[in-house]
Amino acid sequence: MFCVEQEKLDRYHWLVDELNRHGHLYYVLDAPEIEDDEYDALMREMLQFEKEHPDLIRDDSPSKRIGGTVLEAFEKVAHAKPMLSLEDVFSKGELHDWLQRAADSLEQPWIPWCCELKIDGLAVSLIFEDGKFVQASTRGDGIVGEDVTENLKTVKDLPLRLLGDVPGHLELRGEVYMSKEGFARLNAAREEAGLPLFANPRNAAAGSLRQLDTAVAARRNLRLFTYYVQDAESYGLHSQSEVLGWLKARGLPVQRAWRRAGTEAEVLDFLERWSGERFSLPYATDGAVFKADPTEYWKILGNNVKTPRWAVAYKYPPEERKTKLESIEISLGRTGVLTPVANLTPVLISGTVVKRASLHNDEEIQRKDIRVGDQVWVRKAGEIIPEIVRVDTASRTGTEESFTMPATCPVCGAAVAKLPGEVALRCPNRSCPAQLTQGLIHFASRQGMDIRGIGDRLAEQLVQSGLVKSFGDLYALRVEPLIRLDRMGEKSAGKLIQAIAKSKERPLKFLITALGIREVGAGVAAELAKRFSSLDEIAAADEERLAAVEGVGPVIAGSIKAFFGEEHNRRLIDELREAGVSMRSETAPEAPIGPLAGKTFVFTGELSRMSRAQAQELVAQRGGKNVASVSKKTSYVVVGEAPGSKAEKALSLNVPTLNEEEFFAMIDKLPQHMYGGTNDA
Ligand SMILES: [Zn+2]
Repeated sequence: MFCVEQEKLDRYHWLVDELNRHGHLYYVLDAPEIEDDEYDALMREMLQFEKEHPDLIRDDSPSKRIGGTVLEAFEKVAHAKPMLSLEDVFSKGELHDWLQRAADSLEQPWIPWCCELKIDGLAVSLIFEDGKFVQASTRGDGIVGEDVTENLKTVKDLPLRLLGDVPGHLELRGEVYMSKEGFARLNAAREEAGLPLFANPRNAAAGSLRQLDTAVAARRNLRLFTYYVQDAESYGLHSQSEVLGWLKARGLPVQRAWRRAGTEAEVLDFLERWSGERFSLPYATDGAVFKADPTEYWKILGNNVKTPRWAVAYKYPPEERKTKLESIEISLGRTGVLTPVANLTPVLISGTVVKRASLHNDEEIQRKDIRVGDQVWVRKAGEIIPEIVRVDTASRTGTEESFTMPATCPVCGAAVAKLPGEVALRCPNRSCPAQLTQGLIHFASRQGMDIRGIGDRLAEQLVQSGLVKSFGDLYALRVEPLIRLDRMGEKSAGKLIQAIAKSKERPLKFLITALGIREVGAGVAAELAKRFSSLDEIAAADEERLAAVEGVGPVIAGSIKAFFGEEHNRRLIDELREAGVSMRSETAPEAPIGPLAGKTFVFTGELSRMSRAQAQELVAQRGGKNVASVSKKTSYVVVGEAPGSKAEKALSLNVPTLNEEEFFAMIDKLPQHMYGGTNDA
């Protein structure tokens, strides 16, 4: 037993409130008051306290947004009231008829409508109790959805506690979405990894929200807009415009484009204005929503089986343009994937000029029967990624040429091959100049070794001239051969060599990023550098230990293991070491603190006293680690009702098992903090 000084505890509460306030300013209002590094400093101080006092961690702590819980399956949630979808209309004529019909049934000449943009995301229901976020669920079939509470917590613009006093039970509805940029980045990474692409941001958001590993969901950077309050009248709200204002005042994110339209001209004006302006928004929109503004009309108009009679969605026509496919070229990525890319006659689509579109792979080209010289219909997936929708076969002249992927790498000539289970062709040559060039650009980037001066052009020259055959060769570069390169004087060569030398001292996290391990970006690299003291320790770690690091999980752990398993990569690391590149972490790794530090737990079957996630939280708060699968190194397997195969595996590996009673008895016996009551998890 020990006491936390009141002063420290007060400071912790202040930090949580302050960080939540700044998070709201930054993510929701887009009006930060402090610099990023000030925010980071407050965050570090708060995390330090939480590490020392895991029992006192508040439910609305911003640390809950990092993710780290791995669920076995999503629980089903029955919606208190059905989540309806909206009827779609596709023309101004249809829209006029629809709105007029609603006014007619109210025996009014016209009624005021609240106009909002329709975000290309997926609908969620959010439950708050006494102002605290407690549950989120997907629409599902409208009657029963899935519990996605843990993943919603990683959505940074969702307040975990509402502003102001909101007593009792509150249900909101909103849209979870992915930004255009996030969508483009995710698909680029998937293409590089040979994974199927998401067709649009809505699918990407849905796929991310349905990740059982919350760390994966957290990395996907999902965002939220809210637009609906269940039983709005009980909060004194009598119109949709009041609802939107109220949501904003509670600290919830509300899309800004909405307006109240008193006349039909104002409705059409809204449609017209946003038909073009929507392309400049950082997220994709596919239409506009019109809701009867006074909520009293909602009750009078009522609902159809699946759609309300007081709200309708207008879908903007898809932005598709026809242009000529002039040629197809092959681009090579860092991991050797060959991607066919179409060169198009430039055409204006969704606000920008499009000249190129990825054709992804051979199967895609064959499926759409795309030929060089074709007239093709082009659009932007998620308003950002140009893609060829279909060929205008009627305008073929017979001069079009079919395309087949090359059998050899267009750069190094190695025979290309498909990895099992992948559609993408890869150049298997580890020292292929194209891969090396891309890898070198990544190695030298700011997220990596930060070697100023190595951009696309110099990287290509270094590889083509044979000066760099592996990243390690960089550190042996001398002025003399460098000045023979294009546009490289003695002075710039000297600067480059200095920058390269300086990079030897880069902290471990940047070196990890620079290596270009599949699926390991800057965020994961930073976590690895915190938990391990050196690159060698990471290389030697088993998958279970890697998977237990925040944000890693089994897939990335496998990818890290595979990287260090390759002879080629081990040689590269030896070269870097010999060149004097620092491979140790500056700070000692943070060891978890608490009575269960160093112990790993696996849960199987149902618990009766609380959900598995809550039980895992108890373990984590006491410094223990939750892992997904049983191995010889697992400390305990907690076996509930109707356990799965993990219980048998525990027996066969001689791992101690605990039944529910034994588990809670163990937890109860552990020392309690004095202020344990503030933590209501
Ligand atoms: Zn090649």
